Amino acid sequence: MTSGSGIQIPSRLPLLLTHEGVLLPGSTVRFSVDSPRNMHLVSHRLLKGTSLKSTIIGVIPNTRDPEHDTDDLPSLHKIGTAGIAVQVVGSNWPKPHYTLLITGLCRFSVTSLLKERPFVLAEVEQLDKLEQYTSPAGEGVTAEDGELGELSQKFHQAAIQLLGMLDMSVPVVAKLRRLLDSLPRETLPDVVASMIRTSNKEKLQVLDAVSLEERFKKALPMLTRQIEGLKLLQKTRKISPDTEKRVLSVRKGRVFPVQQLNLDDEDEDDDGDDTTALERKVRGANMTEAALKVCLKELRRLKKMPQSMPEYALTRNYLDLMVELPWNKSTKDCLDIRAARTLLDNDHYAMDKLKRRVLEYLAVRQLKTSLKGPILCFVGPPGVGKTSVGRSIARTLGREFHRIALGGVCDQSDIRGHRRTYVGSMPGRIINGLKTVGVNNPVFLLDEVDKLGKSLQGDPAAALLEVLDPEQNHSFTDHYLNVAFDLSQVLFIATANATATIPPALLDRMEVLQVPGYTQEEKVEIAHRHLIPNQLEQHGLTPQQLQIPQNTTTDIIGRYTREAGVRSLERKIGAICRAVAVKVAEGHRVPRSDASTPESPAKQDKAAPPEMPIVIDHTALKDILGPPVFEMEVSERLTLPGVALGLAWTPLGGEIMFVEASRMEGEGQLTLTGQLGDVMKESAHLAISWLRANAKVYKLTNIVGGPDPLEGTDIHLHFPAGAVTKDGPSAGVTIVTCLASLFSGRLVRSDVAMTGEITLRGLVLPVGGIKDKVLAAHRAGVKRIILPKRNEKDLEEIPANVRADLDFVTTKNLDEVLNAAFDGGFTHPQLTSKL
Ligand code: ADP
Repeated sequence: MTSGSGIQIPSRLPLLLTHEGVLLPGSTVRFSVDSPRNMHLVSHRLLKGTSLKSTIIGVIPNTRDPEHDTDDLPSLHKIGTAGIAVQVVGSNWPKPHYTLLITGLCRFSVTSLLKERPFVLAEVEQLDKLEQYTSPAGEGVTAEDGELGELSQKFHQAAIQLLGMLDMSVPVVAKLRRLLDSLPRETLPDVVASMIRTSNKEKLQVLDAVSLEERFKKALPMLTRQIEGLKLLQKTRKISPDTEKRVLSVRKGRVFPVQQLNLDDEDEDDDGDDTTALERKVRGANMTEAALKVCLKELRRLKKMPQSMPEYALTRNYLDLMVELPWNKSTKDCLDIRAARTLLDNDHYAMDKLKRRVLEYLAVRQLKTSLKGPILCFVGPPGVGKTSVGRSIARTLGREFHRIALGGVCDQSDIRGHRRTYVGSMPGRIINGLKTVGVNNPVFLLDEVDKLGKSLQGDPAAALLEVLDPEQNHSFTDHYLNVAFDLSQVLFIATANATATIPPALLDRMEVLQVPGYTQEEKVEIAHRHLIPNQLEQHGLTPQQLQIPQNTTTDIIGRYTREAGVRSLERKIGAICRAVAVKVAEGHRVPRSDASTPESPAKQDKAAPPEMPIVIDHTALKDILGPPVFEMEVSERLTLPGVALGLAWTPLGGEIMFVEASRMEGEGQLTLTGQLGDVMKESAHLAISWLRANAKVYKLTNIVGGPDPLEGTDIHLHFPAGAVTKDGPSAGVTIVTCLASLFSGRLVRSDVAMTGEITLRGLVLPVGGIKDKVLAAHRAGVKRIILPKRNEKDLEEIPANVRADLDFVTTKNLDEVLNAAFDGGFTHPQLTSKL
């Protein structure tokens, strides 16, 4: 930087609001940020900008209590410090956040706010001259006489006196000495206040002192207090170089231009007690013998270590964790099967099979406490209540509940922790979870085991296996802890969307319980029994204020959501509650009455409580949720030959799937588009071959009426809707029907959907996921479903009311499929009419 009269910070600064300490000009402080606004500031501004200017931001202390922090902007502290972000580090653990290293430049005051989102941007006025910090000592000193001169003289002397009491061989002390010599005196209050031990409140006072005189006056007592403290200490204890190192401790890594040090007399005072207290805690933590041995060894090392060593903090953190772990703390199981049944029934509608199996599992556990049975794994689409059943299990047992999300975990140290040798090492999620719940027998829900990844950092599934294996998990060794911890009391439950991607070795340990999607009627019941009451309560509303009638719920389910579970339904109900909560909170405006009623305008405009209850009808629904997202599109789409409706299964539940075909002049080529897997392509070729072989029987023709449908014709098959890769052979019958329609020019019935695998000889083979597929077809308003004959047994699982709405046609071969898919059958249909 150059010296001169006009170094200016930009007049518009993005503002970082922080609870963490106060940045003073000339010091460098590390801030960890995770609020949405600050995160946006980092990602939109710091990480995008390329100029030096774009790294300058304003740091404003957020004086609002973090506990009560809300989304709206707090009233801003009037003065802040502009600083350069010298380092940005991002991390996703334990939650997304950035760590910024910021060097303070100068004070500013906020003149006006320009915008609040996505981050705060303000017009600012620079309050300090920047040259103060950049010009060498001697220059730029403004007033050496008068009161200010005297003050600055006093301050400088005090600082020198403090230095005199410390050992110059300690690098931090030497640094302070250098700074005292080289920096202009008016910068000293800021620099020294950030280096000595001061509270944030005191630092805030220094920040607020815009006039230099006041700043000296505020900082001087802090400096003197530090000296007095040190004197007292010297009186009571002879300072050895070793303790002195501890008196002065480098707090965090610092860069330019100042090292922040902590002349920490209080810590020194209780340092001895501190380790004794820690030792007491270690001995009282009831840990295993091996763990105690390791801890005592670490404790001995800690006592010998100067606090300034980075390892000190590491060891200390380790010991703190060891003390906190629930080595021998557990909750008492209180299982009463009858009560458990009531509780499960009260919490969850339907899902009878699952509830029955869960009760059996719990009953066996009760009889045989050291159960080494399989791990229960709930498999089903999102939002069908897998997590929520897990939570209920914990409640029935009277145990703590903790959810461990495994989606995307691809590093085994996520499960097993990092070795302590490397910086930033920490325990894995299992140990962390135990620390959080504070007991050693919680219910751990391993969420999304099917989304575990794999990478160079080792296979997390293998680590998880060790956790789940009852033969091994009584001595699970986290790399960070490096001593065994007994996990055998933990009750593990897993959830997944599909079993196909669960690592086989893991799957082998688990008992899979399918949780299929819900029917429309079940959803209505769930909404009225659980979701609506819950959402009302969460939004502080009562049924006397808001009512959602059954047909509105049906409307939400049919026209605003398309899902197997009830998660979006719950969200939509939440949206309605929010909208109504606003109405209730602000009160209805009394509608302007007719001009004939002579009321004063003031009276008319008065807010009155809204009419209770607010009933959500179709119009209100449209106002709140907007126009319907889904329309019944089935019948519309089937108005051209060459379209058929298939049923697909995805990990998110069943789905309806349109298959479209068109033909044009060409050389018999087949084009396939849509997200397809290999099996699907094979099915398409099979279908074409079968239709060509049977073209005569069904009177199928090519584009100009020739007997071979492919002659001089190109065919294009498309599988629209959804970016989901549709693999699986179950689309075979749909492709055949779609092409048969194309080659014959006849329309497929608009209310029929189908599923089934085909063979070259025209047989129809059974497929999986029937329940989910049927439910999806029912949701979409389909009336007839064509299935393979051998899937007939699966129809038993389908709720009676859904079965009653649908006409099931079970088929053994493609001939039967085609006859069921076209009005009046497919084989020789013209014959009858011509006769
Ligand atoms: P998942 O873990 O399967 O994705 P959740 O357990 O998070 O789903 O369920 C989403 C929401 O739906 C929760 O609020 C849950 O209480 C509710 N829910 C799901 N199924 C039922 C049910 N059968 N009865 C009552 N509430 C349910």
